Amino acid sequence: MPRPRVVVAGAGFGGLWAARGLAGADCDVVLLDRNNYHTFFPLLYQVAAAELAPPDIAYPVRSIFRRAANVEVHMARVTGLELENRRLLTSLGPVSYDVLVLALGSESHYFGVPGAEQHAFPLRWMHDAIPLRHHILTRFELAAASEDPLLRRRFLTFAVVGGGPTGVEFSGALAELIYGPLLRDFPAIDRDEVSVVLLEAADGVLGGMPDHLGAYALERLRRRRTKVRLGVRVEEVLHGSVRLRGGETISTDTVVWTAGVRGDPGIAGWGLPLAPGGRIRVDEHLRAEGHPEVYVVGDLAWSEHGGGPLPQVAQVAIQGGRSVARNLRRTLRGQPTEPFRYRDLGMLAVIGRNAAVAHVFGRAFRGIVAWILWLGIHVTWLIGFRNRALVLVNWAWNYVFFRRAVRLILPAARVAPDDIDPTPSGDGGR
Ligand SMILES: Cc1cc2nc3c(=O)[nH]c(=O)nc-3n(C[C@H](O)[C@H](O)[C@H](O)COP(=O)(O)OP(=O)(O)OC[C@H]3O[C@@H](n4cnc5c(N)ncnc54)[C@H](O)[C@@H]3O)c2cc1C
Repeated sequence: MPRPRVVVAGAGFGGLWAARGLAGADCDVVLLDRNNYHTFFPLLYQVAAAELAPPDIAYPVRSIFRRAANVEVHMARVTGLELENRRLLTSLGPVSYDVLVLALGSESHYFGVPGAEQHAFPLRWMHDAIPLRHHILTRFELAAASEDPLLRRRFLTFAVVGGGPTGVEFSGALAELIYGPLLRDFPAIDRDEVSVVLLEAADGVLGGMPDHLGAYALERLRRRRTKVRLGVRVEEVLHGSVRLRGGETISTDTVVWTAGVRGDPGIAGWGLPLAPGGRIRVDEHLRAEGHPEVYVVGDLAWSEHGGGPLPQVAQVAIQGGRSVARNLRRTLRGQPTEPFRYRDLGMLAVIGRNAAVAHVFGRAFRGIVAWILWLGIHVTWLIGFRNRALVLVNWAWNYVFFRRAVRLILPAARVAPDDIDPTPSGDGGR
């Protein structure tokens, strides 16, 4: 009997751990991603805030599977699915599968806010973080060269939409970048000309965490000069401003969108059962309902546990990927599969130097203890010894010297997917 062919689409957290779990198994694995690297998204905001360089948080996928003889890696964009023919459509042509593992992640969700998709900066992929970092550094250059106070204020106002972990972490890191190294580099700019504004529709930040941790994060952000505006809704993002409900307009060139994610709308036409947020509804084994040969893991999967869907976080994707690999191995041995059980390991968010919040192992931590926990956990989960070492060295440098190493505005490169994919990629930033 021929060996089954398992195609894993996406080498993010879910896809990578599924393919790792199948290395050495009695099947052929084809792992596809539009990039030739895996990204460690929890540190992406540090790339945008000039704290880390892109290669510090990315790792070549082929290197990870160098020793796995049954895993074939390809850089390819997934463009469609033919369920009846069991073929995945890609920029390299159709790829046949016996079993498909979809792990394509999520896209920024703008909730239909006019102008957000056109004018706001998402913070979802590496190709979002690099242009955003360039844009922020360029605003300082433009402000320093301008004598018009209104224009300077527009250049120097940075609005972050969404008070979840990414919005909190990014505004904290941005405030540290600006009120530390950047103002030292630009003595002609006064600190009162600069604003970092965090806009959140709810009445607190870090919604999924215990209230006292959210309150601590809020207080620390404000102490670090971030203006946190609670209970405000963004009505429209325009070129050069953002309009709030009630008519107030903030003049800014920089609106960073961290308010939510959803499944890629293109997937809606693939014939898989859809759930809210453009996700795919899966059964207790993470198989798309009605299609037992298609597994879905990570952000794209709508898997109900305890009356609601699992959150779109790294641990759900990692544990989902591992569970699928375990079940496929069991199937290959003729054993029955086991349902996916998610073990909640908790949640962390860092506000900046010596300040973080953590709700782990059922306990709440804040301040320097949470910060050390955050550092340790993130370094542990990074892929590759070199990346761990680079990140640690960069953090130590920032910590000791109050500097940011990555403050260069480099020429924008045309990214590789255009070479592999003649169709417009959407990967080239805004
Ligand atoms: C800025 C940011 C910060 C975050 N911080 C945290 C955190 O601190 N803790 C936490 O637990 N979670 C965090 N998350 C969430 C976490 O990263 C996601 O839940 C997790 O990455 C989901 O894993 P996944 O495998 O579903 O998708 P991803 O890890 O997003 O991987 C998807 C992969 O699919 C590839 N892909 C997508 N579309 C295509 C296509 N059409 N063709 C080919 N390849 C494609 C992508 O290149 C990517 O490699 C953060 C997310 C972001 C964006």
